[in-house]
Amino acid sequence: MNLEEYKGVFIFAQQVDNELNSISFELLGKGKDLAADLGAEVTAVLLGSGVKGLADELAVYGADRVILVDDPQLADYRTEPYSHGLAAVINEFKPEILLVGATAIGRDLAPRVSARVATGLTADCTVLEIGDFKEKEKQLLMTRPAFGGNTIATIACPDNRPQMATVRPGVMQKNERKEGAKANLVEFNPGFTPDHKYVEILEVVKTPGEEVDIMDAKFLVSGGRGVGSLEGFALLDDLAEALGGSVSASRAVVDAGWKPKDLQVGQTGKTVRPNVYIAAGISGAIQHLAGMEESDIIIAINKDETAPIFDVADYGVVGDLTKILPLLTKRIQAEKAGKR
Ligand SMILES: Cc1cc2nc3c(=O)[nH]c(=O)nc-3n(C[C@H](O)[C@H](O)[C@H](O)COP(=O)(O)OP(=O)(O)OC[C@H]3O[C@@H](n4cnc5c(N)ncnc54)[C@H](O)[C@@H]3O)c2cc1C
Repeated sequence: MNLEEYKGVFIFAQQVDNELNSISFELLGKGKDLAADLGAEVTAVLLGSGVKGLADELAVYGADRVILVDDPQLADYRTEPYSHGLAAVINEFKPEILLVGATAIGRDLAPRVSARVATGLTADCTVLEIGDFKEKEKQLLMTRPAFGGNTIATIACPDNRPQMATVRPGVMQKNERKEGAKANLVEFNPGFTPDHKYVEILEVVKTPGEEVDIMDAKFLVSGGRGVGSLEGFALLDDLAEALGGSVSASRAVVDAGWKPKDLQVGQTGKTVRPNVYIAAGISGAIQHLAGMEESDIIIAINKDETAPIFDVADYGVVGDLTKILPLLTKRIQAEKAGKR
């Protein structure tokens, strides 16, 4: 492998049903920073069927170039044709770096592609930067929690290309929209053959998810084991409604079956960055903090004054959440009524 041949930062632009996932814009944001350090361009790789119209949106968020692989075989995500398409793009265009979202699709696609093109992959990165690794300059340094979040590992891939990483949604920042920006569009089709190994999709049944994705909420009222039961969450629902926010939860709550996995914040849940995160009855385990410590304002309510959640909180209330939450809700409702 001649490493010199590999140039530029590529991101996998994930779309489903002809709609780009916001991870694509987050990867473009990070990709831009990395490309600036390397003096390189950012390329978005867009796979799908009838998706050419999405290229402009990728340009608005910072793509200098879009490589489009458009084929009916790519209408719905399936491992085999998508792996073939992305691996073919790598072999043809030789990126130095390739970033993929750590979404359900990205977690399926990236390892398979990395194996096909014989390079390494660092999964679930939270920090990406360009730096020196041993004697080699300008390597991608990929940082991620390891051993259940008890340590942080920084990993490099000095001898193979591309340097591949998956990145958790919600961790990287999007660029500001640059209306009217245009990218250089390159159409490429490596050819797809319907293969007996391909999965045939008979029907797509969508489960009705929560109305608001907790990753988009401005106010989150998050409950932990201290809430005590599913019924106990009524107090959190009331506060979230008064704030115009949503309810989320710790893993203990999800494991207890009180709330669905969709609402879990943390290392094995979602990464959230609301304006205000209220943690009620959550101790603040490192795996939980990994998903919420970037929130603008953190308010912790816990009856144990030594709970680690207070170490990251901007405001802390030591006390029983069953008493404090109704008071907060009442106060906010009164403020709102006063303003009317
Ligand atoms: C590999 C791995 C991945 C993990 N991923 C995640 C993850 O994504 N998200 C996550 O959350 N966890 C995750 N965990 C689990 C994590 O380690 C903790 O076990 C979990 O976060 C604890 O949840 P909790 O804070 O709700 O419960 P607890 O730790 O039991 O804390 C309950 C808190 O409630 C307080 N409390 C009790 N009653 C009241 C009351 N009436 N009023 C006020 N306060 C009260 C208590 O003082 C206590 O601090 C992971 C663990 C591992 C090993």
